[in-house]
Parts: sequence; structure tokens; C-alpha cells
Amino acid sequence: MLKRFIAHTVLANIFMAQPAFAEPADKDPDIVPLSDYDFPACTDKRGEEVAYLRADKIPVHPYVMQAGARYVETDPISKPAIFYEHAFFEDLASVARDFSFAHECYHLSSGDAIRAYEHKKEHGYYKNREDHQVIEDKADCHATGRLKNEFGYTAKDLDVVEEAIDLMDSNDHTERMQKIRLCFKNGGPA
Ligand SMILES: [Zn+2]
Repeated sequence: MLKRFIAHTVLANIFMAQPAFAEPADKDPDIVPLSDYDFPACTDKRGEEVAYLRADKIPVHPYVMQAGARYVETDPISKPAIFYEHAFFEDLASVARDFSFAHECYHLSSGDAIRAYEHKKEHGYYKNREDHQVIEDKADCHATGRLKNEFGYTAKDLDVVEEAIDLMDSNDHTERMQKIRLCFKNGGPA
């Protein structure tokens, strides 16, 4: 009886030490559940901590597709947040999540988002900014710098980012990826 008990204990230890056996064979090890994922640290331009909020759990306007930088309160403008589509991000590798969230974080930390909200508060609408492309390129390069310097990804990992951008955006983004790869080579924003 004691012998059998010991045999069970040893088996249990083997399985506990090697939990990979319990995983389905086709599961991508780079994809972890969002519940186990560390969202990138983020504060807005005024130093307020940014919350990550599931777009499907909280009613939000305007509509968020994939991920978006927002302020939850508008009077006064406060509570910076990144809203994200849980189902979409649940299936993404960490490098693609880190890139997307760091991109959105930049819109909050640089002041892009607060400027947009202040304009809306004063004029009743979001300004269609002529420097939109410049702002987006900056957000991409800032996020790319974080991938390299803060999270320690390699240039090869950018292939996974490219796949994610393919999913998010049906437009041709050859030029966007060229800029991202060049920014990575340069170690981040100039
Ligand atoms: Zn953006």
C-alpha cells in the first residue's frame, strides 16, 4: 500500500515538473493568455497612470477596433486608458501585443490624445490633423524602440509584428514596415 502511494507521488511530481506535456501539441508557446500577460507600463503626459480596459466590458465612444487610446472622463479630462478588444488580443503573441499597446501608450504619453480631447471640448469635434501621418510614424517608432530597448526583442521578432499588422489593417503597409524596421535598426526614435 505504501509502495503504491509512493509511485503515485513520483508520477505526480513528474507531471508537475513538466507541465508542457499537458499542452495541446499545436499550441504556440509565444501566445500566453491575457490573464498571464504583463501589459506595458504606461503613464499619460500629465503622469497619470494609464489603465488597460476591455472594450467589450465597458461601453465606450467612439467605437474601439483592436486598441485605442482614450480618456474615460471628459470633464475634467482624466482617467487615461487603452481600450482593447479582448478576443483579438487573446490570440496574439506578446511581441505583437507589446507593439500595439506601446503604440497606443505613446498617443497618451506624448500628449496626442489630450490635445485631441481638448480640441473637442473647445470646438465640439476632433480635429482632422494634417500631421496625422507624422504622429502615427512617431508612435510606431517609439513603440519599436521599446521593443528593442525595454523588452529585448530581436529584428526577427518584427515578422510577428508584421503578421499582426496584416490582421489589423488591410491596406498595403510595406512602407510602414520599412519605417519600423529602420527605426529598430536605429535603436528607436532619433
Ligand atoms: Zn496610432
